[in-house]
Amino acid sequence: MFEFDIQASAGRARVASFTTPRGRVTTPMFMPVGTQGTVKGISPDELHAVGSQMILGNTYHLMLRPGEAMVAAHGGLPGFTAYPGPFLTDSGGFQVMSLGHMRRITEEGVVFKSHLDGSLINLTPERSIQVQEALGADIIMAFDECPPYPATTEYVKASLERTVRWLERCLNVKSRQDQALFPIIQGGTDETLRALSLELTLPVDPHGFAIGGLAVGEPKTEMFPAVAFSTAGLPENKPRYLMGVGHPEDLVAGIALGVDMFDCVYPTRTGRFGYALTDQGRINMNSSAPRTQLQPIDESCDCYACRHYTRAYLAHLVRAEEMLGPRMLSLHNLRYLHRLTERARDAISNGTFHSWARAWADGYFKNGVPEWFSQALHTGETAA
Ligand SMILES: [Zn+2]
Repeated sequence: MFEFDIQASAGRARVASFTTPRGRVTTPMFMPVGTQGTVKGISPDELHAVGSQMILGNTYHLMLRPGEAMVAAHGGLPGFTAYPGPFLTDSGGFQVMSLGHMRRITEEGVVFKSHLDGSLINLTPERSIQVQEALGADIIMAFDECPPYPATTEYVKASLERTVRWLERCLNVKSRQDQALFPIIQGGTDETLRALSLELTLPVDPHGFAIGGLAVGEPKTEMFPAVAFSTAGLPENKPRYLMGVGHPEDLVAGIALGVDMFDCVYPTRTGRFGYALTDQGRINMNSSAPRTQLQPIDESCDCYACRHYTRAYLAHLVRAEEMLGPRMLSLHNLRYLHRLTERARDAISNGTFHSWARAWADGYFKNGVPEWFSQALHTGETAA
């Protein structure tokens, strides 16, 4: 269980399979986010059809409503959500902090105000693991602090050292052997602090690692060097999960740097806002051009929306505020990201990854390929 087998590589990029209790997944992969026990508007059958492999559930939301006991009464998230495949849950910490409901953070844990009824709730490493064991995902995350950007060096250092102490407490209470616990490498964009986090975390020897503390407002010119530094310091034979990152260009750059797993609300959120992802960038379905276009969003896409509907029809649905519009755009966007990872995997296997990634970027970036992207590809290609 939790075996990670690398089948092909190109520089730091690799294709691998990871075995979980609910099935084997192929990486690099993108994981849709099911915040409240549902990927917004998308049924389990549809997730299967677009090629989703593993779904992310949010501990913070589910512990508040309906409560982890009700999820456990269904045998965990697969029974509760009727999605029979693998799941990953976050620790709850990031959402407490990012949603701004946090009241105080101490050595013990965090105290936050419920966004539902205003009550004060304690979330500790022990409580996070207890909730995640009840939710029953295949991969669970260590309870950590993700410091805001920017933060002082002193703060990030103190925070990551506390995260390491919290990791020890998570491991002490973890009781289920059928869940892999991933610790989270922190340290912001500072290489000295990333190195310290790696040094303190590697001895735990878990089934996989997460790279956290990024995509919190820092520029990509700082984020991707921190990703590169992190993947270079992690063992080859374990999966690497870059948390909360999932724009198309981030996937391609992350894959080049040796990242195996990604998650983000982006494809479904931007779909609800009326945007469709393509190899030529985003199409704004609220703009005037699509209203008269009789072609699908993407001729090469095999999703239900692209096989059945014109851009004009989808733009009409969006303007008329019909619920099928955001649903179909979300479906297409998920398929786009899954297909992007499939294409990357094929290119890695064929030995064409870097030329494929450069050709993709030439079409995708309308105003020229940015330096951070070229640098990420270069680093991934030359520093294997
Ligand atoms: Zn499509």
